Amino acid sequence: MLENIRIVLVNTSHPGNIGAAARAMKNMGLSKLVLVDPVDHPTFEAYSRAAGADDVLGDAQVVKTLAEAVSGCIWVMGTSARERTVRWPMMMPRQCAEASIEQAQQGEVAIVFGRERTGLTNEELEQCHALVNIPTNPDYSSLNVAAAVQVLCYELRLAALAAQGSLRDINDNVTARHQGDKPATSDQVEGMYRHLYQMLEDVKFFGTSNPDIIMRRLKGLFNRAHVTVREVNILRGIFSAAQGRKSARK
Ligand code: SAH
Repeated sequence: MLENIRIVLVNTSHPGNIGAAARAMKNMGLSKLVLVDPVDHPTFEAYSRAAGADDVLGDAQVVKTLAEAVSGCIWVMGTSARERTVRWPMMMPRQCAEASIEQAQQGEVAIVFGRERTGLTNEELEQCHALVNIPTNPDYSSLNVAAAVQVLCYELRLAALAAQGSLRDINDNVTARHQGDKPATSDQVEGMYRHLYQMLEDVKFFGTSNPDIIMRRLKGLFNRAHVTVREVNILRGIFSAAQGRKSARK
């Protein structure tokens, strides 16, 4: 999917930004770079900033106009440092990446970045289906163009991984944890709750407060954590210790 997404840099002034953008792309698994009328290219400086991404930089296509750069694309996203919403739908980076990955399954996609000082012209913005704004400090909203490329390429990578299901696997590894540390079953969790309740009563924690409300809140906390068998055992060990006995398991 990422191979169908091209990064377009319009009229970039600083060669270092072109190199840094190439590096940002390669780190995130993107390789198609298109330069519209770059001020100075190719340069030693760009290659030095590209570090190991000289292949992306060397393969960069140089064209005269944005129209040439996005030819053949079924989906074109423009980037803007301003939250201009009057004429174009404005997306958040995550939404932009998800939409772009979806479109990239059917055809070519372009993400377009503007000039360092002035961004994209209205005429260029009109060639985009939608705009994306990286939410920044409103008092200092404009990112370096290569930094903006980095943020969007990262979001594209996350969206691509999610679409391939690998992100789900990564998440499963985090939540399913290590071997032998399986998520606790509902009866194990219920047993832990009963033990927790008994312990809180034993230590006279409830006092005048309503035990039901406190238990409801604590259950909410444990549900969010999606506790494992091992964690349930540790908790029950703690409850027993608070109750002053070695084991409270009945
Ligand atoms: N004064 C210009 C700033 C251009 S910054 C303007 O207001 O448009 C150079 C390029 O970096 C922008 O054209 C855009 O491609 C990208 N960029 C910088 N900050 C951004 C942000 N917050 N969201 C999205 N893109 C951004």
